[in-house]
This record gives sequence, structure tokens and C-alpha cells, in this order.
Amino acid sequence: MTDAYRQLLDSTIHHLESLKARGSSFVGVEADTFASLSGPLAAAVPAVPSVKPAVVSLGARPEFTKPRLVAAPAVTPMASPAVSAAASILGVVPESLDEAMAQLREKASGCVRCPNLAAARKSVVFGVGDIRARLMFIGEAPGADEDAQAEPFVGPAGQLLTKIIAAMGLSRQTVYIANLLKCRPDTPGETGGNRKPTLDEMKTCSPYVLAQIELIKPKVIVALGGTAVEGLLGNFTGIMKLRGSWQTFRGIPVMPTHHPDFLLQALSEKRKVWEDMLKVLERLSLPVTEKQRGFFLPKE
Ligand code: SF4
Repeated sequence: MTDAYRQLLDSTIHHLESLKARGSSFVGVEADTFASLSGPLAAAVPAVPSVKPAVVSLGARPEFTKPRLVAAPAVTPMASPAVSAAASILGVVPESLDEAMAQLREKASGCVRCPNLAAARKSVVFGVGDIRARLMFIGEAPGADEDAQAEPFVGPAGQLLTKIIAAMGLSRQTVYIANLLKCRPDTPGETGGNRKPTLDEMKTCSPYVLAQIELIKPKVIVALGGTAVEGLLGNFTGIMKLRGSWQTFRGIPVMPTHHPDFLLQALSEKRKVWEDMLKVLERLSLPVTEKQRGFFLPKE
């Protein structure tokens, strides 16, 4: 080990110890830095075992109080083991959940990781609802209405989702609603319409929704539509087969169901979606009335 390298290492350790003493829980590492640490330099200097990536579980919230070092790539495949996505974006994650979510929203609002989407968007559609919600709905991407209003699920499909949530005895304010992709997929050369996000786009944006899940810690996630299921779970079985059967994402139960946009075209499927929501209510130990159990049953 050269003197210059030893000095650099000593200063780095001193800096990290000082952050730790001041109560910092995380250290964010830019993707480029992380890549260079993993490259030839790290291989040429094997004696640096004291700074290593830490795996942060999705367990109880007290992780904010335990100092730990985190090095994570900026783009994390969603199905991979849990690395702190919030730390990968924010660096030092604030102890307050409200502050952490506000900073995450702020970061997303200036994000230009997808230059074409950033250039075409009117707004970054981050998410809406209670950041302490037990139930989280995740869709694929904002459409034109959502882009215009900077809020997920506000167009015709969103209004149907709002009705479904109300039928569950809940509201948009008591659940959390987000999309995998925070910017509307662009439609170059088209004057209107929406397109599905690509897997690459969802993967690029994944740190944001991962961080949201990490911070909110929902007890149940409802994945809305086949694209959301593919992006979140990496499961390509198809929503027709997966709908209604519990899946798991990093220990959190996930109920795949139809996207409300599909329901608008196939109202005959609404009982099936409602049965999925009944399962969600039961999983959350929320009361279900006999009237609710009978919603959308065919009339005799
Ligand atoms: S889609 Fe996500 S990653 Fe891409 S520019 Fe928008 S916020 Fe950033």
C-alpha cells in the first residue's frame, strides 16, 4: 500500500467516523464511484475490507437509528436483494420519514435519468396518499392526465380505482398510490395516447419506487396490471393467470390484479377484481360487511 493511498484511506475513515458520530445512518455512493470501487482499482488493492456494501432489510423502521454504510448501484433490479434504495438516491437518509419522503420527491422532480422522458414530461408523477399506509397500489406509468395533473391515477382509469378503493371502505388519502415509472412514457410523433413503459425504463426508474416501498413499508401491495407485475416481480406468467394469487416482493404480500384501464374495457371482470380486493381486506384484517361481499355478483 502506497503512502498516498494510506493517507486517502485514513482521511476517508476519519470522514466516515465523523459522520457516524454526528448521527448519520447512511452514506450514499454515486453509481460511477461504486463502479470504480468495484473495478480494477479495488482488485489491485485487496486490503480494503472495512468499507463494504451493507444489506438493509425491509424490517422494522428503526434502521434510521443504526449507523451503517451503504454502497448501492443507482439502478437496482427490483427483484434483487434489498439494498437501501433510499440511501442510493439520497445519500444520508433523514431520520424523519416525512423528511426522507420529501427529499425523495424532490430528487425525483429533478431526475433526468431518462433524457427522452424528462424532455417530454410536464411533471414527475411521484405518488399520492398516506406515507404510513398499510396498503400500497402500484401501477405501471403515468398517462396524459396524470402527467398534466402530477398525480397518479386521476384519468378515467384512476377514477375507477378511486371507486374501488372507496368500496373497500378506504380512500386515496388512507392508502398510497404510485407507479413504477415516474414520468409519462413519451410518444414521439404522436399527438396523443399513451404507451406502456419498457422494462428498461421501469428498471431505470426502479430506485424511486423501491425507496418508496422501503420507507412506507406497506403490509400489502396491490400490483395493477400485467406490466406492473412484470416490472415489480419479474414474473411474466401473465396477469390472466396470476390475478388473484398472492405473490411476494421482498417479504411483502403482493396481490396482482387487473389494471383499472382494462376493467373499463371489460366490466364483466369487475367481480374478479373485487374478489382480489376482498382478499386484500382480509389480509389486512379489515372488516368486510356482507354487503361488500356481495358487490358485483351477477343478479339472479
Ligand atoms: S422515469 Fe424515473 S428515472 Fe426516468 S427520468 Fe423520470 S424519474 Fe427519472
